[in-house]
Amino acid sequence: NTETVILDRNGISRGLTRIAHEILERNKGVANLVLVGIRSGGDHLARELRSLIADIEGEEVPLGAVDVTMYRDDLGSRGPMAMGKTEIPFPLDGRNVILVDDVLYTGRTIRAAMDALIDLGRPRNIQLAVLVDRGHRELPIRADYVGRNVPTAREENILVEFDENQKPVEVRLIKS
Ligand code: 5GP
Ligand code: MG
Repeated sequence: NTETVILDRNGISRGLTRIAHEILERNKGVANLVLVGIRSGGDHLARELRSLIADIEGEEVPLGAVDVTMYRDDLGSRGPMAMGKTEIPFPLDGRNVILVDDVLYTGRTIRAAMDALIDLGRPRNIQLAVLVDRGHRELPIRADYVGRNVPTAREENILVEFDENQKPVEVRLIKS
């Protein structure tokens, strides 16, 4: 069982700061922007991105969260798929929605999250930001903003560690 540090606190901070700038550049500022984090992990990163964007632009963009854990199409073989707690207390119509997650793997979670968003309104577009892309996609989904691409074997895992304030502190690759 070996662990390799992929990103430390500063590495994560630099990656998220770059992503914040990329989001603002591609969307021409905050005017139409909303952030939606995927529980759990993505919600903390979305809050971090909102704070970095506020540091740059002086404005806090709307922040929501979706939970699609039970919504994944490979987990719902028994009966209807239940949805976890989704909190999006603002309209999505016409907005540029940035979905945020910690790790992108098969893409099934993102597909489910897009389904959930589209049930709630009609965003102008949906973009995807992830801290780590570990490969192995099973759907035609890619991230628009990536902290770090980490080639992995299927049996490996990425550990994203958060501190007691839900701030990201370390990303490690775990080989068992
Ligand atoms: P996917 O649906 O793309 O297969 O998996 C992505 C979802 O599962 C994300 O919400 C992510 O949090 C979680 N996930 C998948 N693989 C890993 C991993 O190696 N490490 C962590 N921390 N989460 C993962
Ligand atoms: Mg997660």
